[in-house]
Amino acid sequence: MASSPSSAVESSTVCLTLDLDWAPDHVLDDTRLLLQQAGLPTTIFATHQSPAVTALLALPGCETGVHPNFLGDPDEDVVLTRLLTAFPTAVGVRSHELYFDSRLLPLFQRKGVHYFSNDLMFLHAGIELYYDWSGLVRLPLFWEDDVHCLYFDGRFDCAALRLDQPGLKVLNFHPVHLFLNTREIADYRAAKPVLADPVAARKLRREGPGIRTLFLDVVGRLRGAEMRTLGALAEEFRAAHVFEGRTAERFAQEARKERAP
Ligand SMILES: [Zn+2]
Repeated sequence: MASSPSSAVESSTVCLTLDLDWAPDHVLDDTRLLLQQAGLPTTIFATHQSPAVTALLALPGCETGVHPNFLGDPDEDVVLTRLLTAFPTAVGVRSHELYFDSRLLPLFQRKGVHYFSNDLMFLHAGIELYYDWSGLVRLPLFWEDDVHCLYFDGRFDCAALRLDQPGLKVLNFHPVHLFLNTREIADYRAAKPVLADPVAARKLRREGPGIRTLFLDVVGRLRGAEMRTLGALAEEFRAAHVFEGRTAERFAQEARKERAP
């Protein structure tokens, strides 16, 4: 189904999101302090359970989504069910490595997933929410920290993010890049073996401009802006637009056929 204009959604909406990517607790505690200071609604895609994850997800205004790794396990149902059981309030998904295959669509529908934020349209103007052909609400990503490090040549000023251009701007940060103030992906690779050790990892935080300083710059500029979580935007979109496809019934028919002897 073709995308339809998201009239109920403000065209200049910026959304802050995080993929936790199994970061150690001391790294997540550092992210929690940064978010606490920022005080902005954030959608957090969780990968695992831990005391630091629980504390992070409990921040006021934060929404829980899940971040399944479908690459490590051929049974997508098992992977998704495990995470949705651990995080029962989650209605949104973003796959690790932005993985997608079309078998996920009937699975998402069966599991009650409302939205999928998985397509990176790096720095594209005019991004809109849309229903895909299965009736799932899609919220493409506008920007991601690791891609920023690859795309730009050491540029960490807020203007690079073009936040003033029209369209949905879903920004995605990773706690590990916030912690390390990553400047290039080699920083992360070098830190990986000692990341679990708070003292050794802290020594590897880069001085000067990097992803952490960029985050602080971005949230400073967003202070006072009207921001929402991805789930709130998706529900607003659903309320304003009826999905006309028959895909849900067809998926159910196919599932019944598959179960039949
Ligand atoms: Zn990931």
